[in-house]
Amino acid sequence: MHAPAHAIALDLGGTDLKAACVSAAGEVLEFARVPSHAGDGVDALMDTLVGAARSWRAGARALGIGVPGVIHPATGALVDETPHLALPAGFPVRDTLARALAVTVTADNDANCAALGEARAGAARGAGVAVVVTVGTGVGCGIVVEGRVLRGAWGGAGEIGHMGLRSPGPVCGCGVEGCAEPVAGGEGLVHRARAAGLACEGAADVFAAAASGHADAARLVAEMADALAAQVGCCVQTVNPDVVVIGGGVAQAGEALLAPVRAALARYAQPSHLRNLRVVPAALGNRAGVVGAGLMAWDALASGAVSPA
Ligand SMILES: [Zn+2]
Repeated sequence: MHAPAHAIALDLGGTDLKAACVSAAGEVLEFARVPSHAGDGVDALMDTLVGAARSWRAGARALGIGVPGVIHPATGALVDETPHLALPAGFPVRDTLARALAVTVTADNDANCAALGEARAGAARGAGVAVVVTVGTGVGCGIVVEGRVLRGAWGGAGEIGHMGLRSPGPVCGCGVEGCAEPVAGGEGLVHRARAAGLACEGAADVFAAAASGHADAARLVAEMADALAAQVGCCVQTVNPDVVVIGGGVAQAGEALLAPVRAALARYAQPSHLRNLRVVPAALGNRAGVVGAGLMAWDALASGAVSPA
């Protein structure tokens, strides 16, 4: 059989689906973005995924998909139900797509896909151990060791958004008391800014207000950076990374977020662990997920994996 020209990559979000053709080197050859219909039921969602992939089916033997939920690495099934995604716990994401498209499929959590993209083809290229944090609505994270995602026993590794670092505190929707995410994530930032009387559409408005000297906005941004640093600091002490990459929509604030996170890290990790640590912005923007999903598909082909057809 001829070597395939590309892998198909899908990055499923709550509102949109990013789809791409990705080369073995992690280059995005083609890119498209469509509404995901993620909340409209299993059939509508699967139709959207299959439809997006089908136009690039010729020349591809593998597909990688990132989803906003935890995927079991052995079975390719969704472990638990997840908000904004109308799939039941245990839904066989990998095998359903493999059957529909007759390609080898690999499925993983979207933050793990973004982490692999940044580690192999983005800001953490060349690093032995990379922690890639995605700050968007919530806080996602993937840990990449020697070019491979650290998945844990059933896919749950790296879920730093839901560590109870602020306990005692309010109970998060996930059930953990004092979760960092309501403070460290974009949705929480906007929610808290509105509660403080600030009119804002999104996290960028809060950063803009902070930059123009609004005291409450500046305090909320500082608290967000502190909560992120606490999460990252735990990760730094646990896996001793070379580099921490911070990406996601909220991280487009750039140094307005990264500089206070770097400064606050000194409170949460030892000087030895921070001495040569780089904390850098992501390089791939909103394409990190498809790049990583595509590279996972190539890895699956290289390892000889074939999804059941
Ligand atoms: Zn939580």
